[in-house]
Amino acid sequence: MTGFEQLPARLDEVRRRIGEAAARSDRSPDDVRIVGVTKGHPLAAVRAATMSGLVDVGENRLEEMEEKQAAWGGEEAPRWHMIGHLQSRKAPAVRGRIALLHSLDSIKLARRLERTAEGDAPVLPVLVQVNTSGEEAKYGFSSAGFREALPELLELASMRVEGLMTMAPLTSDTEVLRSTFRRLRELHEEQLDRVPAYRGTQLSMGMSNDYEVAVEEGSTLVRLGTILFGERGR
Ligand SMILES: *Cc1c(COP(=O)(O)O)cnc(C)c1O
Repeated sequence: MTGFEQLPARLDEVRRRIGEAAARSDRSPDDVRIVGVTKGHPLAAVRAATMSGLVDVGENRLEEMEEKQAAWGGEEAPRWHMIGHLQSRKAPAVRGRIALLHSLDSIKLARRLERTAEGDAPVLPVLVQVNTSGEEAKYGFSSAGFREALPELLELASMRVEGLMTMAPLTSDTEVLRSTFRRLRELHEEQLDRVPAYRGTQLSMGMSNDYEVAVEEGSTLVRLGTILFGERGR
């Protein structure tokens, strides 16, 4: 017993719902990738994920990810995603460890990552986190701050901006969720028109309670924890 026996059935259900949400917006479900968020769960969750064919796994704390990576003995390693706020002091450690940083949330962090990159370091794929919910407590660029910072971000040779990420407020009000996600998509489309060097393709939006709305609004990466792995213990 690992506690994750239900994962394959839950994944099937989530995939079915993603398919329906995509169809409502004339999108292909193939354009939506699931990142299984294993934070707060033991390594067995990561193992269950890869065994179920879920190769993208997300963590929000660097230490926890490093522990799991060190303990990972299996052959087929997952693609690790960092989805949480990085303290700029610890930030350089993500380079070479992850497939995608979803939470590039300040110019300070970007500059720190650039400054600490060795000459032969692998380019870090990043998403710029934008606070399109307007909630004070959330990390991320404001929309205006993002527009202003983007030219500089695109010049940083040590990273590649692959798109944007946002987090919606914790609410069941579909219209609040929808407008948060829509603002991110519109901001992305606006930059594609306006900034030739911006060639983002990814929108990371949607969690367990709001991924269907996010898919309707154009999400290409949904970050799902609870709905797949159950409540977090720690
Ligand atoms: C924890 C977390 C998730 C997953 O949340 P669930 O509600 O458990 O699906 C997604 N994104 C971020 C940034 C998180 O920290």
